[in-house]
Order: sequence, then C-alpha cells, then structure tokens
Amino acid sequence: MSSSQIPVAVLGATGSVGQRFISLLDNHPWFKVVALAASDRSVGQKYSQAARWILDSPMPDYARDMVVVPATPDCIDSKIVFSALHNDIAKDLEPQFAQAGFAVCSNASSYRRGEDVPLLLPEINADHIYLVKAQRKNRGWSGAILTNPNCTSTGLTIALKALDQAFGVKKVFAVSLQALSGAGYPGISSLDIMDNVIPNVANGGEEDKVEWEPRKMLGTLNDNKIDLADIKFSVHANRVAVIDGHTVCASVEFASPVDPAAAEAVLRDYRADALARDLPSSPRPVIEVRSEADRPQPRLDRMTGNGMTTVVGRVRRDPILDLKFVVLSHNTIRGAAGGSIYNAELLVNENLL
Ligand code: NAP
Repeated sequence: MSSSQIPVAVLGATGSVGQRFISLLDNHPWFKVVALAASDRSVGQKYSQAARWILDSPMPDYARDMVVVPATPDCIDSKIVFSALHNDIAKDLEPQFAQAGFAVCSNASSYRRGEDVPLLLPEINADHIYLVKAQRKNRGWSGAILTNPNCTSTGLTIALKALDQAFGVKKVFAVSLQALSGAGYPGISSLDIMDNVIPNVANGGEEDKVEWEPRKMLGTLNDNKIDLADIKFSVHANRVAVIDGHTVCASVEFASPVDPAAAEAVLRDYRADALARDLPSSPRPVIEVRSEADRPQPRLDRMTGNGMTTVVGRVRRDPILDLKFVVLSHNTIRGAAGGSIYNAELLVNENLL
C-alpha cells in the first residue's frame, strides 16, 4: 500500500454488491482494500473459496487469497468500511463501526431516513455530506454513517434533479423494470422469474422507498437537516428477467408545460455539483440522452460511463401529465457499490474522514 492510500474494508464482501466493491476497488487511486468480511459461513476461508463469483470480469488477484474475517470493528483495521450488508444486519452493525471511528458507506436502507444521515448522490446533492458534522455531534461518534439510495431511486432521481432545477417538478408517476442482481445472490429462483414479471418488489418496500427517498435527495440542506422536496410520487416496482440494469418509465408533471426538446437539452447539459465533479468515480457524463426510439436498453446501455452514467431516452410529451421518458441505471454499480465509493471519495475530498 502506498503511504497516501486509505485502508478500506468491505462488509458483505461475498454477495452481489460486495463483489462489485471488490471489482471497482481494484487499483483504486485512493483506497486500498485491507479486509473482506462476511457471515460465519465464509469466515476463515480464502475469498476465492467463500465467494461464488458472478461478475463478467475476473476476480481481482488482490482478493483471491485474502481470508474472510468477521464483520466486527475489532477484526478490521481500516478508516472506511463499505457496507453491503442486509438491512437487519446493517441496523445492528453499522452504528458499532461508526462509534468505533469508521466511516461507514452503506448500501442498506436502515439509516437512510435518519435526520442527520446523508442520503447521497454526489452529482446532485453533494452538500448533504455536511450532515455528517451534525451526526457526529448528535451521536458522539468519531466515525459516521453515510448512505446511498435504493438502486431504483438512483437514476430516476438524477434525471429528476436536472429537470427540477430547470422547470420545477410537481408529480412523478413511475413504473420500474428491475434487474435480478438487485435481489442479491442467489436471489429469485429461475422457476419464479423465467417467462415472468413479478410485481410488488420486496413486498411493497421498494415502492415505499422510491416514493420517499428522492424527496430527501431533492430536498434542501437547512440548519443541519433536510427539508424534503414537495413532490408527489406514485410508483410500481417490478422484477424482470434482466441480470443487471434497472429501467424506470416515468411521467412527470411540472409547474408549467415543458417542451421535450428543452428537457433533453437540460438533461444533456446537466453538470455535477462542483464538489463532486472531478472525483475518481464521478460519472462522465452524468446523464447521457439517447435519441433512438428504442433506447435505453439494459444489455446495450448499462455500462455507459463504466456503469456510473444515468441513461435517459424516449423523452416525449405525456398526454396526462407533461413529459414522459425512460431511465436506465446500473443497479450494482451506480445504484450500489460505485455509488458508495463515490460517496467515500466526497467525504475524503471534503476533509470529513
Ligand atoms: P447478497 O448478495 O445477499 O449478499 C449479502 C452479503 O452479506 C454476503 O456477503 C453475506 O455473506 C453477508 N452476510 C450475511 N449475513 C451476514 C452476517 N450476519 N454478518 C456479516 N455478513 C453477513 O445481498 P446484496 O444484493 O449484495 O445486497 C447487500 C445490501 O445492498 C442490501 O442491504 C441491499 O438492500 C443493498 N443494495 C443492493 C443493491 C443491488 O442491486 N443488489 C442495490 C442497492 C442496495 P455470506 O456469503 O458469508 O453469507
């Protein structure tokens, strides 16, 4: 490890999101992985034995022989932990890490709604990172918990931010077509999902998240808390037989009617907040607008900008609301591991580690 690199660990390293962390952190310019943690099932095994590798790219060499450790603060010596734990486990473990001085960059939903917990998409709300100061004061932690949103909210909210700051969003109606990797590994059985579309992802939990989380991210930092954006959401969440890449079809009402060509220009020209524009994981570009009538498609477009770019297409007039479009975002990269790494880079760059 070079003296300037920051030691980091991955909790839940063997799972769907954990594997993305292992892959994206290979040769990261700032971070060096020093520990991989998972459940009792995996502890004590080499990572290459414990993880059933499901990514297209090979398992990075650095991880193969690392021995998986328990996900407890006393077993890990790092500054940052990336958490790919399930919500119930994260709820107990993440505060223990934050109290012990670790910056926890979490994918779990357990603390996203906390008043003093940043829910971050740095390209649209980088200033929300400053909630960490209030969190440390309120909770007496030297570490912190920062979260990224649920993977279906991610691309939708980035597109809405560009449109909201230009035209003022009032109402959103959205239908998701969510990839299988979003359900973790091994996830949904093949007999359930082949030849099928399954509504009501996470027993309604997903719809609740997509109706609430964007309001926090599109909200305003005001006196150490976030004033939620005054936008109404109605969402249907469906699982489809796609491996990676969540598609969302959205219709939006604005303060006054919006011309589709003007909306496309605003989306195409959107630039990340200056605080988050030039970090190693900053999406380049933030939003790509496709002009073909049959794009975006998960298989063709999910790796745009190395999986960090939000792809928008089919921007057109909506006869009931004002405008409709399709958004695609890579759920385990921009919607999970890549997003958490981007959050950690922002924390470091703002001298908040
Ligand atoms: P997953 O594939 O089921 O992986 C779960 C991981 O947690 C595995 O590494 C597992 O280790 C570990 N684990 C289980 N019990 C544990 C325990 N008691 N202590 C420590 N580690 C334990 O799940 P996932 O899809 O990666 O999701 C991880 C988190 O990210 C969830 O909170 C999910 O909601 C969130 N998320 C996922 C996505 C996505 O697209 N997949 C997107 C955004 C957010 P073993 O292998 O040893 O059992």
